[in-house]
Amino acid sequence: MIEICAIASGSNGNCYYIGNENEAVLIDAGISCKQILLRLKEKNLDPQKVKGIFISHEHSDHIRGARVLAKKIICPVYLTAKTYNAVYKNMRPVWPEFFAPGTVITIGELEVYTFLKNHDASEPCSFRVSHKEKHIGVFTDIGDPCINVVNNLAMCDAAFLESNYDENMLHEGPYPYFLKKRIASSNGHLSNMQSFRLLRENAGNHMKCVFLSHLSAENNTPHLAMEAHQPLTSKFEIKLTSRSGPGEVYIL
Ligand SMILES: [Zn+2]
Ligand SMILES: [Zn+2]
Repeated sequence: MIEICAIASGSNGNCYYIGNENEAVLIDAGISCKQILLRLKEKNLDPQKVKGIFISHEHSDHIRGARVLAKKIICPVYLTAKTYNAVYKNMRPVWPEFFAPGTVITIGELEVYTFLKNHDASEPCSFRVSHKEKHIGVFTDIGDPCINVVNNLAMCDAAFLESNYDENMLHEGPYPYFLKKRIASSNGHLSNMQSFRLLRENAGNHMKCVFLSHLSAENNTPHLAMEAHQPLTSKFEIKLTSRSGPGEVYIL
């Protein structure tokens, strides 16, 4: 049994829970410790099962709550040394565990595969967590999907996949030109259509559910993100995550 839940997802904060009967990991902790604990409780997920917090990169929507949460539940924070050095000093975790991208970290019966991705951070990583032949991916903050993202996605039974912006909304929207360019660049974020194409071309037959993640408040709507992925719903479930609260607990 493996349970997964987006505790928070969006440019205002990200945190994803993946756990079995005995242990769990959090991928990113980008909202306050207080909010993470409240939301875990709301979903009947036990924070004492969390044995590791994995940080994808130094942007505050991925690390904001990690330092305080790790102290509270007494668990290590896994991140690369380059990411650690790029984090504001007052947000740096007290018990960092450094990993080299490409290594696999074992947490009880969970295996966490770490790999590099394209994003405008010092050493951005993504993760695939596996437990008894089940594979869960967390793929957010991705510019061009590299071979690491493609190969790991292809193995997944479920995934949190970025569907950050609608191309028209970004183009027509209020953001300054430099920011529009950054978001759409090969080191920015995945649009609804990029996410759709990535799934269409690479999701395996065993994919059961994809949670559309890290939706932009300004440049996307849940409706547009769902609409873009509609053609895939005959193959697997497509579900939304929320910017304002925890999503459903999905059991594999
Ligand atoms: Zn982000
Ligand atoms: Zn980012």
